Amino acid sequence: MIFCRKCLLPETYPGIKFSEKGICNVCNTYQKKWNDNNFEAEKKELEKIVQRLNDSGKPVLVTLSGGMDSAYAAYLAAGVYKLNVIGANFDNGFVTETAKRNLRKITEKLQIPITYIRTDRKALYKLYRAFLLRTGDFCTPCCQGCCCAGFSVAEDKGINTIIHGGVSGSRVEFNVLGMLRHHYERFMKYAGDFSSRELKGIVSHPDTISQFELISLPRYVEWREDDILETVKRELDWEPLSDGETRHVDCSVSQVSDYLLARKFGYSKRWMTISANIRAGHVSLEKGLKSILEEETKVLEEPAEISELLDSLGVSRKELEELPFYCTEPAIYHLEKADITEV
Ligand SMILES: [Zn+2]
Repeated sequence: MIFCRKCLLPETYPGIKFSEKGICNVCNTYQKKWNDNNFEAEKKELEKIVQRLNDSGKPVLVTLSGGMDSAYAAYLAAGVYKLNVIGANFDNGFVTETAKRNLRKITEKLQIPITYIRTDRKALYKLYRAFLLRTGDFCTPCCQGCCCAGFSVAEDKGINTIIHGGVSGSRVEFNVLGMLRHHYERFMKYAGDFSSRELKGIVSHPDTISQFELISLPRYVEWREDDILETVKRELDWEPLSDGETRHVDCSVSQVSDYLLARKFGYSKRWMTISANIRAGHVSLEKGLKSILEEETKVLEEPAEISELLDSLGVSRKELEELPFYCTEPAIYHLEKADITEV
């Protein structure tokens, strides 16, 4: 098995191609797009946007999960850019107590009022169940729901601009080459038999989305995990999970999601994130390789939370094991033996 000599993505990654030098097409595209790799142009553009939003005097909406990325986006928007921020949170049915505390701290420290959107729980679990059984992965309804919560609160309050900490399209984008696309058409492909009542508050039509100005802060500012973590801890008293885990503190079954993804594709979302951070120069190849080997080994162990997920969704262990999706050999078995030389 071949791995990109720059970012370590495996050759089993959908759509990946390698140059003669062994560099993947994601890295080559990255090089062309972010060649100078300084943030001066983006910084100026963002300054203009912030000026315009401040001059307008209108509030902006920030979508918040209680995780570190959205907490950092809220801190920048309200604490640094001094925008008038209203928050929106989607209750995905698996919100951790840590995330709830983090959200309360955001309200207290940044004076951001948050509207919590809770949709029909039964319909939501039925959707997760349908996605799990039909695709092997259950995250799509939540990804849609988080966006939809932002749009519905913004619409309700007459807000036009939505600011978020989603990394799509930024230097640290991990969901590359069309992998894990959570767009409307894909959603409806698997949820087409659900009623509009069941989908209320979960999915937004592209026509609704196009009415809003969406600002992804990671496209404009450097999005380094260690800096973000240090800032949100210092400024917001933001908490990781009790075991020290700092990623996806907002969802009690996120480890199950990554475990199933690794079984489906042979590598996890965590691997994709580390590759993105190597590509962006935030982590060295050597350190990234070590992290992937360490963390991927953990991901492949079945997490205890799998019972919570299966019970909530009414899926039996037998049903899960009989699904046709989980048949890929873990790429890490080959990475351990691979000869990776830096280029
Ligand atoms: Zn690469």
